[in-house]
Amino acid sequence: MRVVVAGGSGFLGSHLCEALLRRGDSVCCLDDFSSGPAANTDPLLPLTGFDRIPCDVTARFQVPGDVDAVVHLASPASPYDYRRHPLRTLAAGSRGTENLLELALRHHARFVLASTSEIYGDPQVHPQDEDYWGHVNPVGPRSVYDEAKRFAEALTTAYRRAEGADAGIVRIFNTYGPRMRAHDGRVVSTFVRQALAGEPLTVFGDGGQTRSFCYVDDLVEGLMAMLDSDLPGPFNLGNPNERTVRELAELVLRITGSNAELRRQPLPVDDPVRRRPVIARARAALGWTPRVPLEDGLRRTVAWFATRSYESDTCGALSE
Ligand code: UDP
Repeated sequence: MRVVVAGGSGFLGSHLCEALLRRGDSVCCLDDFSSGPAANTDPLLPLTGFDRIPCDVTARFQVPGDVDAVVHLASPASPYDYRRHPLRTLAAGSRGTENLLELALRHHARFVLASTSEIYGDPQVHPQDEDYWGHVNPVGPRSVYDEAKRFAEALTTAYRRAEGADAGIVRIFNTYGPRMRAHDGRVVSTFVRQALAGEPLTVFGDGGQTRSFCYVDDLVEGLMAMLDSDLPGPFNLGNPNERTVRELAELVLRITGSNAELRRQPLPVDDPVRRRPVIARARAALGWTPRVPLEDGLRRTVAWFATRSYESDTCGALSE
């Protein structure tokens, strides 16, 4: 297969590119390097079967050659990024999705949309299965991401129904691992960076809010299973092992051997109170299940961060 990975130089995208190459697929990575550094995929450039086209998927772009599958991971995805770049985030979910669906349709290729647990908003049903319609504030600070992804799901579904596109949707829950940007504002990267630097860990609110953290290698296996199927989904992809933010902070302190303090900061507006995926559908339909326990995944993540210089974490300047 030749797989177009939009957002292929990002955190998830670069791991997916590597995994596809490892199993013998060819990969065409599209990225504008706005939130995924080129350094993530620079080491892949000499490899046979890998090419990289610097481009913005919300504008015009060309993909020469065969295309058997397209996966759309091209979007700002951390709350810190999408709050700073609201219009780009909306464009990534709308025009970006449309352009990539058209590309897939022209080539009769499989299309996979990387949607998100954020489409459930601040959920009133717990845990969340795919039949839950969500609880999203359409004008809140997170809406640019949540609503862009909801629109992207609607568009993907419409292309499948009206155009016969072989298109499917996965909803990705909090994922962590090597190559997260140290300054992307997310909780795992922030806590690990702070703990390694001996700085206080910034716990928002009382730290009683929950998330369920999936290690990146597990998530990539789920993405590949979805690429290989012809199912529409949507399927939740995430690890149902739910933890409070405070528990996560304590675990990071233990793994890093840090005795830094926890420092409380105000809870961001519309921060979801709890989140945990039901993954029975992905298990049954894709034969997928996450395997890496949080402690192991965090150890690997800490080991990676410990060898980094955070200055190399910068991306291309974004303008709104
Ligand atoms: N959070 C925190 N301290 C930080 C960053 C995040 O306590 O320095 C909290 C945040 O309020 C949220 C959770 O950690 O409840 C997960 O935040 P993240 O930005 O990683 O992802 P989200 O699931 O909110 O998109």
